[in-house]
Amino acid sequence: MFSLFKKKSPQRMDVFKDVISQEFHGIHHRDLSSGSLRVIEILQQAGYEAYLVGGGIRDLLLGKHPKDFDVATSAKPAEIQKLFRKSRIIGRRFQIVHVRMGAEIIEVTTFRGSAENSKLQQANASGMLVRDNVFGTVEDDAVRRDFTMNALYYNPANHEVLDFVGGYDDLEDGVIRIIGDAETRYREDPVRMLRAVRFIGKLGLELEEATAEPIQRLSPLLRDVSPSRLFDEILKLLQAGHGDATFPHLRIHDLLRPLFPQTHELLEDGDDAHYEELIHLALRNTDTRLNEGKSVTPAFLYAAMHWPQVHRRWDELEAEGHGRSQALAIACSETLDFNQQFIAIPKRFSITIREIWELQAKLEKRHGRRPDSTLEHPRFRAGYDFLLLRERSGEIPGGLGEWWTQYQIADDAQRRDLIASVKEDSDEPPKRRPRRKYQRRD
Ligand code: ATP
Ligand code: MG
Repeated sequence: MFSLFKKKSPQRMDVFKDVISQEFHGIHHRDLSSGSLRVIEILQQAGYEAYLVGGGIRDLLLGKHPKDFDVATSAKPAEIQKLFRKSRIIGRRFQIVHVRMGAEIIEVTTFRGSAENSKLQQANASGMLVRDNVFGTVEDDAVRRDFTMNALYYNPANHEVLDFVGGYDDLEDGVIRIIGDAETRYREDPVRMLRAVRFIGKLGLELEEATAEPIQRLSPLLRDVSPSRLFDEILKLLQAGHGDATFPHLRIHDLLRPLFPQTHELLEDGDDAHYEELIHLALRNTDTRLNEGKSVTPAFLYAAMHWPQVHRRWDELEAEGHGRSQALAIACSETLDFNQQFIAIPKRFSITIREIWELQAKLEKRHGRRPDSTLEHPRFRAGYDFLLLRERSGEIPGGLGEWWTQYQIADDAQRRDLIASVKEDSDEPPKRRPRRKYQRRD
């Protein structure tokens, strides 16, 4: 959508400001949501400034299809609410107004400013902003945003894009650049480090050097972010259609360690290449399903992300003398409990994750009535898919998955034959690949 020859009409105001006209940026109203255009019109008619901003404008300029459009305005939350009957204020850290326009919900934010020592803005000891409701001008708002490409303001009334931070040029150059001093901005909100990596995977852009440099060093700050916010951010990272492309960048910037510490260790260990492959296959599978418009569940993704830890503990507990199913059940509990301190998985998902894992032992049992009862398990499909992933990753040899593939489509007589084909003594765990003894690191 960019013109090959960049031509802008720079205007010098009190801060740097570029105005990019429509003939260069090429944004058309047919590409925008009618709800957000209407919200802007109403705000502007009431005398407020209002723009489209954020990911929607960025994605349009990159020729991608935006998933939503955010509105930024000079109107205060209560003033916005007065103008729109169907609206409500949400958020504590940042107040946002959700405005309903037909079937759409438009996020409307008031321009944010910065005011040191203000009661409305509070940072904790590591520099993290815990409260941030200082209002400002559109210029103030621009410099409070995370990356330059996310701070472009489009005014539908005159079709102009306003750029206060050089975001338009950065987008053209394919560069993700943080606004201001990188370390300070990551300290204010460590999630910005995850967002940086997310945009590499999603948009195929590169991190500018000073934007990338502090991430590895500051990645432990993610431990200070609330585990429930991290759950949401991880889904945006790994379950939004670009997980497979994003994951390697999480590792490059050492962001896996604070989020999935055990998985990080086992992958770094490098002993079991199949763990790496299992995660890659799960992410690729998730991306494909999403891109085909199919549903996905966070449970499957998390089942894969934490599997290395479960699998290791399962082995260890069995070696310590626990029965196979019991060892797996303990490994599941330990893994879920341990990781809850980093990323809070809602109960409805953790129940399913455990079921997917526990099915891995059930699927091995193929005598008598066991296969039929396993087949009736509400999570059979997910457990079976997970087994196939384990086989494809090379963790266990193929065979069991194929048996279950056939069993599902077989009639009664064929099922009896399939059960009979399983040798009594083969009703046991599939052989593992030999590997070094696991050394636990502290
Ligand atoms: P996506 O397309 O994935 O939604 P996005 O950039 O629109 O990407 P949102 O979370 O919808 O992401 O945020 C909207 C805008 O709000 C961003 O473009 C950015 O300008 C600003 N923003 C979001 N999160 C932060 C943050 N942690 N710090 C500063 N600004 C932020
Ligand atoms: Mg967005």
